[in-house]
Amino acid sequence: MTDGSARVRIAPSPTGDPHVGTAYVALFNRTLARQTGGQFLLRIDDTDRTRYQASSEQKIFDALRWLGLDWDEGPDLGGPCAPYRQSERTDIYQQRVDILLNSGCAYRCFCSAETLAEAREIQKKNKMRLGYPGTCRDLDPTEARQRAAKEEPHVIRLRVPDEGQTAFVDQIRGEIRVDNSEIDDQVLIKTDGFPTYHMANVVDDIEFGITHVVRAEEWLISTPKHVLIYQALGQSLPKFFHVPLLRNADHSKISKRKNPVSLDWFREQGYLKEAILNFLALMGWSPADEQEVFDLDRFQQEFNIEKISTGAPVFDLVKLDWLNGMHIRKMDPQALLQRLDEEGFLPPGVSCQDAAPILPLVTERMVRLSEFCDRTDWYFGEPAAPTADQLIPKKGTHETSRMALAGALQLLADVTTFEAAFIEPVLDQILDQNSLKKPQLFMPLRWALTSRQDSPDLIEVIMVLGKDRALDRISRALEILVNTP
Ligand code: GLU
Repeated sequence: MTDGSARVRIAPSPTGDPHVGTAYVALFNRTLARQTGGQFLLRIDDTDRTRYQASSEQKIFDALRWLGLDWDEGPDLGGPCAPYRQSERTDIYQQRVDILLNSGCAYRCFCSAETLAEAREIQKKNKMRLGYPGTCRDLDPTEARQRAAKEEPHVIRLRVPDEGQTAFVDQIRGEIRVDNSEIDDQVLIKTDGFPTYHMANVVDDIEFGITHVVRAEEWLISTPKHVLIYQALGQSLPKFFHVPLLRNADHSKISKRKNPVSLDWFREQGYLKEAILNFLALMGWSPADEQEVFDLDRFQQEFNIEKISTGAPVFDLVKLDWLNGMHIRKMDPQALLQRLDEEGFLPPGVSCQDAAPILPLVTERMVRLSEFCDRTDWYFGEPAAPTADQLIPKKGTHETSRMALAGALQLLADVTTFEAAFIEPVLDQILDQNSLKKPQLFMPLRWALTSRQDSPDLIEVIMVLGKDRALDRISRALEILVNTP
């Protein structure tokens, strides 16, 4: 496109759960389209029928929409280049391959799998380059056509020049040159009549008018093959950007054996879409001011595709957790409540309104939204009573805990306004009157009120529970203590 607007695409294969790598590449593509006033397309690469999973496509749509990475054209939206599913475009690939057959740039190959395996063994034994040995390269095209007409199984291969080099520019890495002798006569159409990824991908990128191919680094090795197909079809090249692969801690390509990779998993765990996008953006790019917490708008303003790093970003869940916590605390409380509700993280029967008083108490330590129920169970329900052991802190005794709880029960009963300004002096008074150290009061009280060790700030807990519930729980705990010698 001459006006500088980018027409870009992602092309996920529907082979399983929506992959985090799809969102990563979608983020860069969509941002480029939005920055340049172009279009972001979603194509479904479903020509590999052996790995195809029918439910996968919808899951990909849902996950990307959940993240806010919506597209302008795609199988579900339609558009000027429909259909956007490769399995529905086989006649288009066939037309293009016929052009290549007629011009001699492609040829039919009738070699069986066994013949190819034998050839490979010989190549291995003689330490030769592994690849198609060229057996059918010089078959008479008319004869080949007749054999094909009789439905003899065959594939169609690209005739890669024996000599010379294939060159292209990767906008992130610079010029890349490969000797043609290193490039195999790749299969364009398989025996089942479906195109290979290489063929379908190039034909679609041409048909869709794709100007910038932004995809993961793992495809860099395929790009010389693609360039040869573009050339054979007499087409100019799009701009290529190969973004760094997401990696496991051991630097291997990210895999589900070593990392969660399904976007559904991240959603179920209660990661915010804002945090995921922020995290993915940081995998390939960093802002000039090194302010690592940002939103999509800011990313869109500042991102420069030419500045994508070539490093090997390690997918670090600890970092994602940190970002998630930061985004949770950045969010407007009302919006956060709404999100907890929408994503199904409020306890059953609890409304946003019910959850509003407790929210500020737990956000400080919350890492994932899924923790909300656990962190607030003492508030929404009656927690199991603490044991006497739990009520006695390490640096306390049965007697210090008894004094602490009895003091609290007595003095809090006299407080009429349950606000910090009135509760705080009461706690100080209990400490003074009984010569207690802070943990000797706070720990038993914490256990008494919440039945847990890591509750929010104690004064806030007392306030949010209100007088009746707080006193009930303290008295229950005191009883347990007194009844346990
Ligand atoms: N179907 C490929 C994938 O699953 C598309 C690669 C490309 O963008 O060219 O990632």
